[in-house]
Formats: sequence, structure tokens, C-alpha cells
Amino acid sequence: MNTLVINQNQNVEQINNRIVKGYEIYKSGLVNEVLTDRLEKAYVVGLNKRIVSEIDSVNGIYHCDCPDFEFRDFEACKHIFAVQFKNGA
Ligand SMILES: [Zn+2]
Repeated sequence: MNTLVINQNQNVEQINNRIVKGYEIYKSGLVNEVLTDRLEKAYVVGLNKRIVSEIDSVNGIYHCDCPDFEFRDFEACKHIFAVQFKNGA
């Protein structure tokens, strides 16, 4: 039970860190929409130029090509938070 509580707290902290980093990326002007030949919008995000794709604009579902996004089982990463800040979410 204690372990579960600690893990939940760590998870909240990790998510907060990603939101803060996402905001810093957005404020640095490092979120730029790019033209693609596909229907969904895509953005180049951050110093490492990660690609965030908007899968579903109505429900706010995004995909990012960074390892953090795939490793964390498709939780929003800092790049996705940065795009959401840019879009006023
Ligand atoms: Zn990412």
C-alpha cells in the first residue's frame, strides 16, 4: 500500500515536470507547425526537433517520436504539452 502511494506521487511529479518543461519549450518559441502531405497537423518541437503529430484535434490526441513518449506507454511527453500550450489548451 505504501509503495503504491509513493509511486503515485512520483508519477504526479513526473507529469508536473513534463508540463513545466513543455511550457519552457513553448515560451522559447520552439514549437513550429510544419507542412506534411498527411491530413493531421504536425509540429517540430524543442531543441532536438521532435515531431509531434495531431492524431485527433477534437479529442486532443497527439503522437510524438521521442523515446519518452513510447517508453511511457504513450503518456503525453513534454513535447506534446508544448504543442498544447501553443494551441491554447
Ligand atoms: Zn516527445
